Amino acid sequence: MINPSTEEAFAIISLGSDKDTDLAVDAAKRAFDGWSNTAPGERLAKVERLLEIYKHRAEEMARTISQEMGAPIDMALRSQVGAGAWHMTNFITAFRDFKFVRPLGDHAPNNWIVMDPIGVVGLITPWNWPMNQVTLKVTPALLAGCTLVLKPSEAAPLSSTLFAEFADEAGIPASVFNLVNGDGPGVGTRLSAHPDIEMISFTGSTRAGKAISKVAAETLKRVALELGGKGANIIFEDADDDAVRRGAAHCFNNTGQSCNAPTRMLVQRSIYNDAVDTAKSVAEALSIDVAHRHGAHIGPLLSDTQYSRVQELIGKGIEEGARLVAGGLGRPSGLNRGYFVQPTVFADVHNTMTIAREEVFGPVLSIIPFDTEEEAIAIANDTPCGLSNYVQTQNGERRNRVARKLRSGMVEMNGVSRAAGAPFGGVTASGRARWGDRLLRSYLFEAASVLLHRTKRWRYLKAWGLRLAKRNGMKKAQVAVARNLAVILHCIWVDGTSFQWGKEAA
Ligand code: NAD
Repeated sequence: MINPSTEEAFAIISLGSDKDTDLAVDAAKRAFDGWSNTAPGERLAKVERLLEIYKHRAEEMARTISQEMGAPIDMALRSQVGAGAWHMTNFITAFRDFKFVRPLGDHAPNNWIVMDPIGVVGLITPWNWPMNQVTLKVTPALLAGCTLVLKPSEAAPLSSTLFAEFADEAGIPASVFNLVNGDGPGVGTRLSAHPDIEMISFTGSTRAGKAISKVAAETLKRVALELGGKGANIIFEDADDDAVRRGAAHCFNNTGQSCNAPTRMLVQRSIYNDAVDTAKSVAEALSIDVAHRHGAHIGPLLSDTQYSRVQELIGKGIEEGARLVAGGLGRPSGLNRGYFVQPTVFADVHNTMTIAREEVFGPVLSIIPFDTEEEAIAIANDTPCGLSNYVQTQNGERRNRVARKLRSGMVEMNGVSRAAGAPFGGVTASGRARWGDRLLRSYLFEAASVLLHRTKRWRYLKAWGLRLAKRNGMKKAQVAVARNLAVILHCIWVDGTSFQWGKEAA
């Protein structure tokens, strides 16, 4: 492992073999029966404990992330580690209300939909927001009752190794949570092809997403893909005063290494020159420094390879005729070691240029002028990706109209972020999976509707519940509560031991 700030080696990891992968899958398979049959409340308690440990050891985690992928230490603690805690908390909250069994509908009162854990899942994560991705995949998988094999990015494996330690400390059985270090062609491919893996949840590049889909097709496993992005940030002339600064800062955050970064800034012509000046001043005001130093600077890129790729794309921007207004080729002055690049702003970019089409994954902003709303929408949608777009205008009607026409999994407006539970994901080349509490569902399968055995007592209780509702003029929600109460009573009454919180009537 090379520290991206210093270019010095600081750790060694071993890449797992096919045999290591098979051993982990076998262990997860053996553990599945036990784990999937634990009471949901028991799994919840373990995940709550995991969150406690994660929070308690947050600084250690931040240092690890900072060292392995170059996020500045304060940002690593606040945003990188913070994102993981936020996701775990949200899943825990959502899980408390999660129903593993629900009625099909009023038209078929004897039919129930039963959600069961899908089986052993393979989780493959990238390096750019390591704990964000790991917690997003591991937490719902554990809560759902799946056993798992995690393959973190070979470029940032140490944070996941630490997370595995947390899982152990939280009492999650070893074979329930398995981790195998390795690269894509090795462990990644083996997991994708493995007949005992029921689902692959993958976050990473579109290239790897396609490769995984092809390999996974052979066993018809479920594949959830979260892939790259090329977000447009449409700034209309009536946008709030902070819109351009906010957009540029967002693009440079995490040194531009975010899938949802708004890398194409589309600006209405009447405010175009001012916007270019503002973006230039944001780029020039950014400080760049080593990741282990405290402060609000941005850090290096991940690696030599990423550095060369970003340099190549900046070169392409210049070569293809975009106007360089800030940054450019080479390291920032005063930094001779480390994979540091200059925050770079190109103006007068045309959407056909390479920098507007390819995911740069570095602090490079492309500004594109537009005249009309229709033109802005057409430019924004003219990309193979469809992850996240952004709209800035004080005109509410326009905001909604434009958002509905943007072809992406997410649209954020006027700098307001998505709330807990809002789905995160894309369309087209950005993949089609969804994060957020709905991700829990992707680790479950819906059993065909089941006709539950109904006893005389059930019919009596149901009739009692409905009579009660009628007599008291109850609303729909209250009727639902009364009906659920009847189900619980029925379970306890018929078989005193069969009722489990969250798994009533199963
Ligand atoms: P990557 O695709 O190179 O690697 C991601 C993971 O996939 C790694 O663990 C890697 O070992 C593995 N992998 C690579 N090739 C594989 C293969 N053929 N089979 C199985 N596994 C394989 O991506 P990266 O460089 O680690 O991450 C950056 C990319 O991830 C960017 O494109 C970024 O946009 C994307 N990303 C997307 C999201 C999202 O939610 N949409 C979030 C973060 C990152």
